[in-house]
Amino acid sequence: MKQTVCSGLVILFSLCSLPISAGKPDAGLNLIRKQTIEAHLSFLASDALEGREAGRRGGRVAAEYIQAVLKDLDVKPLGDSFLQPFEAYSPARDYGVDFHVNRDSIEQYKRQTHYRKLDLQNVIGYVEGERKEEYIVIGAHYDHLGVDDLLVGDKIYNGADDNAASVAALLQIAKAFSGEKKPLRSLIFAFWDGEEVNYLGSEYFVDNFANTSAIKSYINLDMIGREGLMPVLFPEFIIPEASSENTAGGNQFHLLYTEELNDETIRIIHNIQNNKLNIEAKPNVIAHQSRGSDYLAFSLRRIPILWFFTGLHPEYHTPADETATVDLDKITEITKATYLTIKQLSEWK
Ligand SMILES: [Zn+2]
Repeated sequence: MKQTVCSGLVILFSLCSLPISAGKPDAGLNLIRKQTIEAHLSFLASDALEGREAGRRGGRVAAEYIQAVLKDLDVKPLGDSFLQPFEAYSPARDYGVDFHVNRDSIEQYKRQTHYRKLDLQNVIGYVEGERKEEYIVIGAHYDHLGVDDLLVGDKIYNGADDNAASVAALLQIAKAFSGEKKPLRSLIFAFWDGEEVNYLGSEYFVDNFANTSAIKSYINLDMIGREGLMPVLFPEFIIPEASSENTAGGNQFHLLYTEELNDETIRIIHNIQNNKLNIEAKPNVIAHQSRGSDYLAFSLRRIPILWFFTGLHPEYHTPADETATVDLDKITEITKATYLTIKQLSEWK
């Protein structure tokens, strides 16, 4: 029997029979265009950007590009600038320790004779809401793995699915909101640096945000352009019994969330159906300490999180993760679904 959208949420199954209200056409939805997503994606995942490695030229060009697009929209910087620069440190190479951004680690590393330093930057856009001091953060990392000269053949990790596609999606979402009437809550569009190193950009942002209790939810976009498995390799993930059905194939995607959004996820799925998007959510709860992407800094602080994710595939973290392999129609539908979900969460609770 084919798994239905709601069957993954057994406890809440009865809610699935609620009537779906007919909504008005949404102006913002019409601003989300497959061709524009393709244009952003093709540039960001091109060889010219050298795999967008954190702290290297290609990463800096990507940040500049994202900033330039935001400046042309009716989106403001969160602070004085769209760029949020920060430093990350690690001990000398032989120790094999990840880079860190928290002050205690940095002080400790700096006391040593040799240490490593990365200069990084998040790119942050802001749309003010009616409730100015309440926030929804929507994030996608723009960095990837760079270039490896020792690779035989193709030496560039283009990172099309991971994660240029999500950056393209988030730029279109920012556009869709920039012409709209004010959302209820303020929106923060965050393009993270250093995810592939150790979730550095999102950790720095959350660590330095004045009032994290004002962040009402975080939506993560990471790998939204393919079909594939939800990783069972992370022991912290809570896998439903039907683990053999853990592949998001065709127009399906994994909609992962923390328990605070149990009920709201049902409404999010209804909203996607109601707007006749050609996409089908496979919902799964994840634990707060689950590692995997930039939501971790938020979920550890008990900020409710959602992750739009189409799953792991053979090209993941290889030079073959190129633009030609992603499904542009699917990305476009997920972009629209994310846009609708942001509007919904802007008014949640
Ligand atoms: Zn990623």
